[in-house]
Amino acid sequence: MKEFNQFINGKFVKSTSTETIEVVNPCTEEVLALIPKGSATDAENALQAAQASQHAWKSLTAIERAGFLNKMAHIIRENRIFLAETLASEQAKVLGLAQVEIDVTADYFDYNAGWARRIEGEIIQSDRKKEHIFLHKAPIGVAVGILPWNFPFFVMARKVAPSLVTGNTCVIKPSCEAPNTVMEFAKLIAEIGLPAGVLNFVCGSGSIVGNTLTKSPITGIVSLTGSVYAGQKIMEAAAENITKVSLELGGKAPAIVCADANMDLAVEAVVSSRVIFSGQVCNCAERAYVEDSIYDEFMDKVAKKMSELKVEDAFSTNSPDMSSLVSKDQVDKVSEIVEYAKKEGAQVVVGGTRSNQFDKGYFYQPTLLTNVTQDMQIIKEEVFGPVLPVMKFSSLDEAIALANDCEYGLTSSIFSENFNKVMHACEELEFGETYVNREHFEAIQGFHAGWKKSGLGGADGKHGMEEYLQTKVIYAQYR
Ligand code: NAD
Repeated sequence: MKEFNQFINGKFVKSTSTETIEVVNPCTEEVLALIPKGSATDAENALQAAQASQHAWKSLTAIERAGFLNKMAHIIRENRIFLAETLASEQAKVLGLAQVEIDVTADYFDYNAGWARRIEGEIIQSDRKKEHIFLHKAPIGVAVGILPWNFPFFVMARKVAPSLVTGNTCVIKPSCEAPNTVMEFAKLIAEIGLPAGVLNFVCGSGSIVGNTLTKSPITGIVSLTGSVYAGQKIMEAAAENITKVSLELGGKAPAIVCADANMDLAVEAVVSSRVIFSGQVCNCAERAYVEDSIYDEFMDKVAKKMSELKVEDAFSTNSPDMSSLVSKDQVDKVSEIVEYAKKEGAQVVVGGTRSNQFDKGYFYQPTLLTNVTQDMQIIKEEVFGPVLPVMKFSSLDEAIALANDCEYGLTSSIFSENFNKVMHACEELEFGETYVNREHFEAIQGFHAGWKKSGLGGADGKHGMEEYLQTKVIYAQYR
């Protein structure tokens, strides 16, 4: 069993708290590691280290800072198999998908390094003679990144890469469920000569470490990826110092399948979106609306596909479609929501219970539900499991209204071969992201941002990088 320490000011140090948290392999229930259940003092020490190193860090040229991001990408690639295995074991992500996450994370560091020579200000015409108005982009200061368990490694890069290239220093709080890969990365980058304090990792609970990091006056920006509940708590804590927040929160993505869709493509995309990483992906189809004339055919095809899925250990060499859910809490939650849906009248077409195919682990069957209505909890709330409820619609405007009738606004999708219908839906859907004739994932050069309760601000691309910059205006009068 491994034990991780906090990484503060360039060194691994013991937490000032003696409490620890167990990290469990969800497939086998084996304890893999102990991480510190860190204290408020740990969080404050990390913030002070980040603050002390920030001036020297921002004084490097952007291309010098970017060099460290390239080194991070390189070290990830050198250790790609070890990191993928660590990720697969701590969160039951099937090994192939874990490998994709590691490889995309390396690309993410290189992509952000590419911004170094492209961060631009502006010069605006003044109303005064002999004056220039400069818009100058400056780092905010100390950036805090708070991570979820579902894509813990990639989301770490989503916070670290744009904050460091723009001249901020950074404190990361990994998730308690899946911190191992991130802490292994901390060990790897301890060797690349990054100045002490520029990047710190503090493990611990959201209520103590996360809250201390958020409410500190040292913190310039807090970027959370997590639940709406955590987002609300962070907004409350950030209010104390009017600290900037960037929130990537939950979703309840609708997939609209029109009668003129390419049926096989839609079935393949919706099923794979619903079960990838056992349904624990924020932007994947959580509910489907299918035009009434093709509903029966769609359901037959989806049912066949779902019943043939391979649910196995994350390390299985049998190309599994999915594995265990991340924890007992998560499988209990999914089970409870499905049982409630059944009581409300939903009919199970496939699955509908935990999987008892293994002695250990937190497995749930791929599940297809019909006879659901718009007012049911299963259609309204994020399930975060391999459960697909499907409803009928009779006109595109009805489908759009049903899709928009939701407190979340992260992602949505539409399947249709009719360009006019697609463009109408894209115009009307109230979601930060819409996929046309495909499902997940987003591109690193795009912009991933939730609408409504799904978030504030966003990540990726130019606009994601600019989240970490403060715009300053300089009125320069000369003679
Ligand atoms: P979570 O909200 O339980 O935890 C996320 C992080 O917030 C953890 O590190 C946790 O310790 C921390 N936290 C909790 N309370 C806090 C507080 N009061 N102050 C500061 N930090 C606090 O979420 P999770 O279960 O790890 O992740 C799943 C959720 O994340 C789902 O809702 C999913 O949709 C969402 N998610 C969203 C995106 C996106 O890009 N929009 C991506 C991945 C996951």
